[in-house]
Amino acid sequence: MRDHVFRHRHLLGIEGLTADDIGHVLDLADGYVELSRQPEKKCSTLHGRTLINCFFENSTRTRTSFEVAGKRLGADVINMAVAVSSMKKGETLIDTAMTLNAMRPDVLVVRHPESGAVQLLSEKVDCAVINAGDGGHEHPTQALLDALTIRRRKGRLGGLTVAICGDVLHSRVARSNIALLNAVGARVRVVAPRTLLPAAVERLGVAVFHDMAAGLKDVDIVMMLRLQLERMHGSFVPSTREYFHFFGLDYDKLKLAKPDALIMHPGPMNRGVEIGSEVADDIDRSLVRQQVEMGVAVRMACLEILGRGPAASNGPPLK
Ligand code: ASP
Repeated sequence: MRDHVFRHRHLLGIEGLTADDIGHVLDLADGYVELSRQPEKKCSTLHGRTLINCFFENSTRTRTSFEVAGKRLGADVINMAVAVSSMKKGETLIDTAMTLNAMRPDVLVVRHPESGAVQLLSEKVDCAVINAGDGGHEHPTQALLDALTIRRRKGRLGGLTVAICGDVLHSRVARSNIALLNAVGARVRVVAPRTLLPAAVERLGVAVFHDMAAGLKDVDIVMMLRLQLERMHGSFVPSTREYFHFFGLDYDKLKLAKPDALIMHPGPMNRGVEIGSEVADDIDRSLVRQQVEMGVAVRMACLEILGRGPAASNGPPLK
């Protein structure tokens, strides 16, 4: 897969990537997992390149993960937190894009609360743009790190059954994971109350379940999602206590999955709401910490692929 041609200038979503594109990123990332486990973790792949982290929405793990990834590749990393409260959408976003562009970065990593905003910004700049989460739309590096975590543990992605449980409606993580898992030939289920599923969700290529007992039966991976209260305007669940009773993951519900089923969560976790502490911290079943480790490696791979610019990359920019 090393000589695979990644024909995309930006990483705006999983939508549009082929199984080979995904495999290429994961293969490169495997190497960066090994590098990151060495005492000397730094290489010079992006020496002299500039990466700007531009976050219009709060983030701890994703921003830090990109920062660590960029530094390990030898890039100069600048973090910009942009306050959204006073932002006049549209015009200000484009102004910001033009300002950043004039500083001649090589990669912009952008998170924004509005779906589509990162794509809009990518159309205004000359460098590569990586979407670090745009509203409820996509979070491609999360899906790639989840895929790397699963592939390293299970040895494959194709043929596995993955249940994505909880607040699918507000989740960009779910959307990116559904696209990726379908692209690589896994079977995807969503398990959620009707109020937390988008309309016509089955069109995304998933089997739909409304109770955990049926939804978790014989699955290989149980992927829990955070109840995204900050994106809810109105009442979507009767109470968080009742939600945990019906949809929160505990050992009773986990028993229904395959005996070697593994648990994932993109973080941050609401303990006692969508996941019980005892399962979240089960070192044999929970992959939550591995997901964070794989996040750095996957972001190093994405930065390597996109950060060298058209001259050094292995194909013409298509997007
Ligand atoms: N950290 C993930 C995101 O940014 C998941 C979450 O916030 O629940 O979408």
